[in-house]
Amino acid sequence: MRIALVSEHANPLAAVGGVDAGGQNVHVAALAAALAERGHEVTVHTRRTAPDQPEHVSAGPGLTVEHVPAGPAEDLPKDELLPYMPAFGAHLARRWAERPPDVVHAHFWMSGLAALAAARDLGVPVVQTFHALGVVKRRWQGPADTSPPGRVAAETDIARRAHAIVATCRDEVSELLRMGVGHERIAVVPCGVDLELFRPDGPIAPRGPAPRVLCVGRMVPRKGLDTVVRALCRLPDAELLIVGGTPRDDEAVRLAGLATACGLTGRVHLLGSVGRAEVPALMRSADALVTVPWYEPFGMVPVEAMACGVPVVASSVGGHLDTVAGCGVLVPPRDPRALSRALLDVLGRPELRASLAEAGRRRAVTRYGWPRVAARTESVYLDVLAGRGARVAVAGG
Ligand code: UDP
Repeated sequence: MRIALVSEHANPLAAVGGVDAGGQNVHVAALAAALAERGHEVTVHTRRTAPDQPEHVSAGPGLTVEHVPAGPAEDLPKDELLPYMPAFGAHLARRWAERPPDVVHAHFWMSGLAALAAARDLGVPVVQTFHALGVVKRRWQGPADTSPPGRVAAETDIARRAHAIVATCRDEVSELLRMGVGHERIAVVPCGVDLELFRPDGPIAPRGPAPRVLCVGRMVPRKGLDTVVRALCRLPDAELLIVGGTPRDDEAVRLAGLATACGLTGRVHLLGSVGRAEVPALMRSADALVTVPWYEPFGMVPVEAMACGVPVVASSVGGHLDTVAGCGVLVPPRDPRALSRALLDVLGRPELRASLAEAGRRRAVTRYGWPRVAARTESVYLDVLAGRGARVAVAGG
């Protein structure tokens, strides 16, 4: 198949760990590569963010990244990109009129807007993955949500017009059903993990004798890092490593201040973002990986830690209910006391850590390898092309 992936803000070639560069970049890069590996011709269309970015970049056999001119050729917050989506869609329409793809897979709601506009007259089916839903973001962030005001209505419209919706977890299915999407057009295909990179054996980042708790992710309030700092106050000798963002981010400054106020100077280390290749060694050096966001559309980080054989403590939200439940420890979000109790248990019981490590690794290997995820995504495309809808398939997370 000729497959067009549309990912307006998340460039698969970009470094991750910044405010707007995280799981979606990793997801689109790995899905595109795994689909190309299966013999498909894959093009990822993403917005041009620097004047010197070439229009086309070959990213491997069968895989091209196309930088779409839409708006200024500079990095912009994703919540400021909506005005440029008509230009983005018009560019796609021109490209696809020359050489239509067999199927389009849009990632994030604004990509869906552009893709549906561009594919309309060509009769090419559009599959949509939201990655995050505006209705959930607004519920949790309230006035702090910087999404354009029309996001929720636009997502409902996209969900109705797309040929199929690929949700990444069962919690998202519930949200989509509440938005009025027919279940026959929803498939659940999780995000994946690179099992070559994230494995129990391999280099281990240096560490001292103190129990080590690790957090990895974008430096934004909803990731709940303040909850982890507060929980650390109740763990007498553990250290906390936080990977992601930069020390200048508002959230990093807030966390550093909180650590000082809690008397944790020297025990909380803000490392900034690190390249993907360095993440597994850091994970392997930890006694526990903690991720306690307020909400989480999927959450690749806990699955990466599971693949490394590292015990996971996660908030009981979103994708974690599929991925971590039963092979990690779930705690309520925004509850430092519950988190510190869970961590005292995990850090104090080597046999519990060993069994969580084994169960997590087994689940990561059996469910979340990218070849398996790509095969399931491909079967959604084939169902759509055959006019069979998406056939909800939720078993196996
Ligand atoms: N990540 C990274 N370096 C960093 C911070 C994060 O490589 O400094 C990666 C992390 O390993 C994961 C992704 O960014 O693959 C974050 O994905 P997740 O789904 O956990 O969160 P999101 O960014 O989508 O909210």
